[in-house]
Amino acid sequence: MNSQPKLRILFSRQEIEAAVSRLAAEIRQDYHDKCPLLIGILKGSFMFLADLIRHLDFPLEVDFIGLSSYGKGERTSGKIKLVKPLGSSVKGREVLVIEDIVDTGLTTAFCLDYLQQRKPASLKLCVLTDKPSRRRVPVTIDYLGFTAPNKFLVGYGLDMNQKFRNLPDICFIEEEEQC
Ligand code: 5GP
Repeated sequence: MNSQPKLRILFSRQEIEAAVSRLAAEIRQDYHDKCPLLIGILKGSFMFLADLIRHLDFPLEVDFIGLSSYGKGERTSGKIKLVKPLGSSVKGREVLVIEDIVDTGLTTAFCLDYLQQRKPASLKLCVLTDKPSRRRVPVTIDYLGFTAPNKFLVGYGLDMNQKFRNLPDICFIEEEEQC
């Protein structure tokens, strides 16, 4: 039987809105005259990126890169696959990567390395949620929304087996009590 997991809100939609607006103000200060290229890592970052750019009232461009490390379920396979290449050239561009969540850091490190090899003028990272306790490779986050405990999160773009991306809050799945 496919029972629904119990969800608890970790970051509410109001907290997310406040974090997005704070991050946009920081990004605005640094990029308002640079026409940056914002690159969202699919699929999880689509909602964050969409909300973030609505706060950015200066010229910018948007592209997406598709990376995948998770098989079905909650554990990373550790192997990163490029599932959708970039449409734009990053050479000489001011590039800002937009990521939903950093856990082990493997996906983000792969992405930054992939982009760095393509010679951008600058390369920075904006992350909505950081889960630092499971980090396997170091990642420098330039703009950070939240720090979260080591729980599997869903909602606001984050999925479990492709479900729950549409939840407006960031939630964690409550462990079943053992009896
Ligand atoms: P990392 O490579 O840092 O372990 O994980 C990065 C990617 O794994 C994220 O872009 C996201 O797709 C997925 N991920 C990591 N932690 C979580 C989580 O708590 N919930 C969900 N839904 N995805 C996660």
